[in-house]
Amino acid sequence: MSSKTVVIGGGIVGLSCAYMLMKKGHEVTVIDKSDISDNTSFGNAGLVSPFEEPPLSRPGIITSTLKLMLKNQSPLLINGISPKIIKWLWQFAKNANEQRLKRTLILFEKYGEITMNHYEQMAKEFEFDFHQTGVAMVYTDMESFKNDSKECETHPYKEVWDNRKTKEMAPCVNEKVVGSIFLKRNAHLNPAMLMTNFVTYLKEKGVKFILNTQIINFEFQNGKAKKALSKDQSFEADNFIISTGSDVSLSRKTGVDLMLTPAKGYSITFKMDKKLKPKTALLFKDQFIGFIPRSDSVRITSKLELGNHDYSYKMSRFESILNTLKPFVEEFEIKEPKYWTGFRPLTPNDIPLFGRDENYDNILHANGLGWLGITFAPAIGDLVSKLIDKDIENKKSDDVLLFSGFYQGC
Ligand SMILES: Cc1cc2nc3c(=O)[nH]c(=O)nc-3n(C[C@H](O)[C@H](O)[C@H](O)COP(=O)(O)OP(=O)(O)OC[C@H]3O[C@@H](n4cnc5c(N)ncnc54)[C@H](O)[C@@H]3O)c2cc1C
Repeated sequence: MSSKTVVIGGGIVGLSCAYMLMKKGHEVTVIDKSDISDNTSFGNAGLVSPFEEPPLSRPGIITSTLKLMLKNQSPLLINGISPKIIKWLWQFAKNANEQRLKRTLILFEKYGEITMNHYEQMAKEFEFDFHQTGVAMVYTDMESFKNDSKECETHPYKEVWDNRKTKEMAPCVNEKVVGSIFLKRNAHLNPAMLMTNFVTYLKEKGVKFILNTQIINFEFQNGKAKKALSKDQSFEADNFIISTGSDVSLSRKTGVDLMLTPAKGYSITFKMDKKLKPKTALLFKDQFIGFIPRSDSVRITSKLELGNHDYSYKMSRFESILNTLKPFVEEFEIKEPKYWTGFRPLTPNDIPLFGRDENYDNILHANGLGWLGITFAPAIGDLVSKLIDKDIENKKSDDVLLFSGFYQGC
């Protein structure tokens, strides 16, 4: 049955929910406190990398981060310790084990296929520079390269590249790069183009947008939300989706304290000499730096800063990313740079938080996609829209029970 849904938050997750509901014939309104021109879904690396890539909370992560910290190259920075950060870090450490890794990789595989199918369909409907050309994990440390290469010989979707082959595909790297592991099934896209053209496409298909309007609370009646409230307006609907990314203040109004933390990241987008431009998306594995080719530019992304939610930045953070990269790349000019920061809504186990609210069942949460929001947003949009379309409770949804952090004990 067709219903009226208000989606609060027009990042990639909110737009994906709106898209799936619109396709199923529902009336959808997206409300955003901004004008949807520069949220976290715009300035990220744009990797669609659900396959063969381990989650952040994996065995060995703590030792390798400490090693990088000693070399002053760590992407991780903790700005101020609060009880919530301590709890988050504790959960992160607890989840960095082999058993969790195995489970997460299987889940990523399952929901990655759903995502890829949707992106393939969406690419037929509007342009976002989508390339299913794989992602190369670039190594600068011989020991970790040798270790990770072991299982590749028999792996159908991984290929080991030596320095020569890596340089052929990424002329910007130098001889200090020991090699790379090419993950064949992953993809990349231009996130700002995706977001801009997605909004235009949804408007054309009848989705309404109410911008520059912050939802601050709900009006509740008989265990349901009746209206979403801004400072001076109210919006009535049958269902409400909260997809507010790293800002969880609205979710708290339902009595839920989502176990996620804003994790600040940085990107530099610039024009690069064509001769040095990578031919495929690169992820410098030992440094946690993305280097992504785009039709008219390249984008470098990095850093994971916990403990604040402040969009301002110091240029020294960008310089530190470039200095970390410098020993492993040829010298290149950074032409017409654009500097950007955004916040990943990061859960401690890389598992998203989605499903019906336990107190108000016509409120649905769609959040916590962390460093993989572009990757999994279409899958989450698909799953959340199904709950509404088929009027399914959490406990009757295998997908919620399997993939939502609400049911993973943290
Ligand atoms: C440097 C960096 C690199 C990244 N690289 C990748 C990558 O390569 N691949 C990948 O898959 N992911 C990547 N990510 C992660 C990805 O960008 C995020 O997971 C994703 O953008 C989050 O989308 P979202 O819709 O949840 O949140 P957002 O994009 O933050 O959107 C949330 C929206 O909600 C609105 N909002 C908040 N509160 C309210 C309210 N109360 N009322 C109304 N509106 C509200 C905000 O204005 C905002 O527009 C990266 C992130 C960073 C920072």
